[in-house]
Amino acid sequence: MRQHYSESISKLISYFSDLPGIGPKTAEKFVFYLVKQNKEYLQGFSQTISDLIDRIKICSICHNYSEKSTCSICDNSKRNKTVICVVARPQDIAALEKTHEYQGVYHMLGGVLNPLEEVTPDKLNITQLLERIKKDKSKEIILALNPDIEGETTSLYLKKTLQPLNVKITRLARGLPMGSDLEYADEVTLTNALKGRREI
Ligand SMILES: [Zn+2]
Repeated sequence: MRQHYSESISKLISYFSDLPGIGPKTAEKFVFYLVKQNKEYLQGFSQTISDLIDRIKICSICHNYSEKSTCSICDNSKRNKTVICVVARPQDIAALEKTHEYQGVYHMLGGVLNPLEEVTPDKLNITQLLERIKKDKSKEIILALNPDIEGETTSLYLKKTLQPLNVKITRLARGLPMGSDLEYADEVTLTNALKGRREI
């Protein structure tokens, strides 16, 4: 924190600096942009942040963020509830939805297995996935995790864990380059990866 700034400004710079990918210089730039804005803008900005506490919930079915107790995808009667696409993060759901190809539902794990960062199976929404598969009598589980070491490890773990449930387990086709991020894949690549999914 820079001592030569006033307390409120230093505090806000410190909050912005904590954001992923934001260094102190960018944090300063954000804060000095904000102090120049009018009252309405700043009220809207701070209200939107407060809404994260007051309005954002976690969908009781798929564990994605939602403003209601169940999200709009789980609530949609047109979606095929017997096909569940397993993803690591909310951004992955957004990327797959952009393809308009997928008609099933999702399950958000909340991350991938990573022993170095102490992300063990109990830290992810895996038990909830097992219960959901049993309850909904799911027909297919699509594993849509990033093609990197953690994603692969998690897919293998899920395959082993889900196998006794007698459900078809598929994964996205290998159109996505190893080490790439699902979130940044273009829509055509993702559509092909979905269409070309294979049983594992
Ligand atoms: Zn949901």
